[in-house]
Amino acid sequence: MFDDLEIRFVTGAQLLYGGDAVRTVESHSTEIVAGLNASGRLPFRVVHAGTVNSAGEIAQAFALADGDPQCVGVIAWMHTFSPAKMWIHGLRDFKKPLLHLHTQYNAKIPWREIDMDFMNLNQSAHGDREFGYIASRLRKARKVVVGHWRDAATQDRLAAWMRVCAAWADAQEMKVVRFGDNMNNVAVTDGDKVEAELRLGYHVDNAPIATLVPWVEAVSDTEIDALVAAYEQLYDFAGDCRRGEEKHRFVRDAAAQEIGLRRFLQDKGAKAFTTSFDELAGMKQLMGFASQRLMAEGYGFGAEGDWKTAALVRSMWVMGQGLAGGQSFLEDYTLDFAGEDSAILQAHMLEINPEIAAGRPRVEVHFLGIGDARTCARLVFQGHPGAGVAATIVDMGNRFRMVAGEVEVVEPQPLPKLPVACALWKPRPNLEVGAGAWILAGGTHHSSFSYALAVEHLEDYAEIADMELLVIDGKTTIRDFKAQLRANEVYHLLHRALK
Ligand code: MN
Repeated sequence: MFDDLEIRFVTGAQLLYGGDAVRTVESHSTEIVAGLNASGRLPFRVVHAGTVNSAGEIAQAFALADGDPQCVGVIAWMHTFSPAKMWIHGLRDFKKPLLHLHTQYNAKIPWREIDMDFMNLNQSAHGDREFGYIASRLRKARKVVVGHWRDAATQDRLAAWMRVCAAWADAQEMKVVRFGDNMNNVAVTDGDKVEAELRLGYHVDNAPIATLVPWVEAVSDTEIDALVAAYEQLYDFAGDCRRGEEKHRFVRDAAAQEIGLRRFLQDKGAKAFTTSFDELAGMKQLMGFASQRLMAEGYGFGAEGDWKTAALVRSMWVMGQGLAGGQSFLEDYTLDFAGEDSAILQAHMLEINPEIAAGRPRVEVHFLGIGDARTCARLVFQGHPGAGVAATIVDMGNRFRMVAGEVEVVEPQPLPKLPVACALWKPRPNLEVGAGAWILAGGTHHSSFSYALAVEHLEDYAEIADMELLVIDGKTTIRDFKAQLRANEVYHLLHRALK
């Protein structure tokens, strides 16, 4: 997934200090980039894009980065003092994510050896502040990371941002296919698709379910046999849906849906999709099993036409590539009041990613009495305990707002009469504040959840997207949260005018 991507590392300097200084700056930068790449902590490579000493060189470095599809962002670092008027044109025109690394070649002050030659060369302490001014003066969205380049904590902050850069680049080329519109009368899952494409990059298309039906019908028995055999390797089966048993045909129908849907999405170049239990004419069941399987492959998914969540599920899947823990579309299902252990059961009628399962998922077939869903195969399991982050994006009319909440998944009780995949979580700091803040923010009942990511990834995403972000974590209080909501209302009204 990340193999073809790169981040460019641009070192700022100037020619005031002579040719030797330029050569030393270049060799230090090369060593820093090599050290970052050798750390094993970055998800893909950083490429040293050279030292820039003039406005022309800076503009050219950024233009090249912008024009190269492999490059998904730029890290800037000022080795010497680089007068920042030189950066105006390059930064003003640069469209991709920017990170400002405030580091220094040497970690420690060499107290006994330090002299004016050293000071002419190693000026990050003030050079990075000059750069910070012009980035702020330009109202340039960027992540500022402060720390020595050899420190794991510094590298991890770069790595988090790089993952988000990859997801951002992916979103600029994302098509979301919707089978049917948003569920009738549902407000929070709807929104301005033109504004979403303008601000967030992805495109949302409609596909009548009738266009999918032939793709499912064209799947051969041999293909279904092979896929069901794969299911048998991966999952347990309820007794009544094993091969030869009465409900097995529903599993085969689900397998045909999986193959047909995957081919359809590939044909359309789509990375995410939504379904609706009211848009199923010609389908034998709601394609919940197929949605579970495709989510595990990285397709974004949103139920009931929720295209914003589908796109976010895809983006968070990209961010989490190679990290442990899994991620999924989830819905706030039902509450469990128990004092400080109060929790929310997260589930959906069918569509939860089996990557979050604590054990081996089980294939079951049951009737589903909603819309035209009918009798559906599904994978049933419970999410494993662990910390994670849930996020959503809502349309506030004049802007998009991301709400991100830290949650702790805990062990649920068995659900013998509710055959759905689920996870039970306690929002931070507790249900009262966590759910209260989420509701005050207008967050959806649907969310994109990940064990692999942290709030930092979503902060970086919101920064790159120039989007409002409301974080709900262990420090949240309702009083401060309400003040933030009111302040943001004014800030975002003026924000566009300032830029
Ligand atoms: Mn739902």
